[in-house]
Amino acid sequence: MAFVCPIDSKYPNEISALLSPHSPHQVQEYFDQLVWTRQCRGLRVKQNGAFGKGVFADAAFKEGDLVLKDQMLVGSQHTSNKMDCLVCSFCFRFVGSIELQIGRKLYFQDLGVSTNHQCDMEPSSPISEDCMETESDDGQEIELENNESMGACSSSNSKGADLPKGLVESLMNGGLSLPHSNEFAMPPAIPCPGGCGEAFYCSKSCAEADWEVFHLLLCTGGKTEPSRREALLKFIQHANDTNDIFLLAAKAISSTILKYKKLKLASSGQQMKYGTCPILNNADLSILLEAWKPISMGHKRRWWDCIALPDDVEPSNEAAFRMQIREMAFMSLQLLKEAIFDVGCEPLFSLEIYGHIIGMFELNNLDLVVASPVEDYFLYIDELSSPYKERAEEITRPLLDALGDSYSICCQGTAFFPLQSCMNHSCYPNAKAFKREEDRDGQATIIALRPIHPGEEVTISYIDEDLPFDQRRALLADYGFECRCPKCLQEHP
Ligand SMILES: [Zn+2]
Ligand SMILES: [Zn+2]
Ligand SMILES: [Zn+2]
Repeated sequence: MAFVCPIDSKYPNEISALLSPHSPHQVQEYFDQLVWTRQCRGLRVKQNGAFGKGVFADAAFKEGDLVLKDQMLVGSQHTSNKMDCLVCSFCFRFVGSIELQIGRKLYFQDLGVSTNHQCDMEPSSPISEDCMETESDDGQEIELENNESMGACSSSNSKGADLPKGLVESLMNGGLSLPHSNEFAMPPAIPCPGGCGEAFYCSKSCAEADWEVFHLLLCTGGKTEPSRREALLKFIQHANDTNDIFLLAAKAISSTILKYKKLKLASSGQQMKYGTCPILNNADLSILLEAWKPISMGHKRRWWDCIALPDDVEPSNEAAFRMQIREMAFMSLQLLKEAIFDVGCEPLFSLEIYGHIIGMFELNNLDLVVASPVEDYFLYIDELSSPYKERAEEITRPLLDALGDSYSICCQGTAFFPLQSCMNHSCYPNAKAFKREEDRDGQATIIALRPIHPGEEVTISYIDEDLPFDQRRALLADYGFECRCPKCLQEHP
């Protein structure tokens, strides 16, 4: 028998108001405004398409044209990816330097080695201090000697231990600069002003915007009250152990709370103390609905109802599996509630709302991807002409070997892009998400695959459209629809 979330039963009317659809007029107004702010004037969201909302061309696009650059509403880097890429926590641009990016990767790789293989228990290292000569001032002269003999700690997981001692540190602390790295300059990494040491930014404006919109409630730094800080750390740990989609849901809730407080402050004209608002009245509910509006516009269902059944779960165990997912979400919600609860926004802490927020991310399933300048850097070195290439590779080759395949890992995460999420699927799409050379942050970029005429619907493919019909149909069933695109109709009339 399913347990009941107390907040679900306390606020049935508020929850149904939060989940009820908007009028077509409100929806139109919202999306028209959104298109306007995106400066992609050649688009219009229409609500009368075969699948509800759809994005239509208002102008002509040629093959290769930029159709849309969509700013995310909320997004986060995958926890596991944070060791590979240091990016701005707000716009997801790479920050720091090539040296810092490589140094961090190697550092975390080594950390993995030392916990698993206990290499650093060896009494004496075969690597002597003078194995490495560094002249960091002009930054170009490093000699790596005896590279062969440094393999004492090597493992199949990581070759980071093959590198001379101190190299990783000097990459990270700026003591060493790599040849030609200035061709790949990045903005310096600005640490979170709250002192958490977790969030970094490309600029002061990103730091301020993130603080204002999300991070004020989610910062685990010293400025956060100790009890909330401890609760936040527990919440984050649980998300990292189970599913990092909870971190995204926490951002959605904290942005709604922070917006609510701002609107409330503006409406009352006086300072509101944290958590002193007693009961939710009608005026407060309408403020909450306004703050919630951006999230409310996304298509959503309860997470445990819409999540695809994993291959390793027997269909006969489906009900138990869905119940487990619901329990995991409830556990996460209790931890989040400890950390960022706000009386005025209590309905947001109902399991019903939490489940729908996560379901929105699950259903829209939009990838956050930013190409790595580290990959570009090694390609650049590889393409240098002789003798510059050989000279540079003396220094970069051991690093590349130590990094292994991970040298090319890009920034990866999940995000919700409000306009892209309105684009319907086709197995014969006329547009696709594609990052061009200049697209270096977390925004979604949609490019025309062939000419798109005014009035035509802009479609993208949610899956690999080259798969055979049956596989496409099975994958699309997870999105909850049966495709009737020209290609599907032709193959299965
Ligand atoms: Zn930024
Ligand atoms: Zn912080
Ligand atoms: Zn199709």
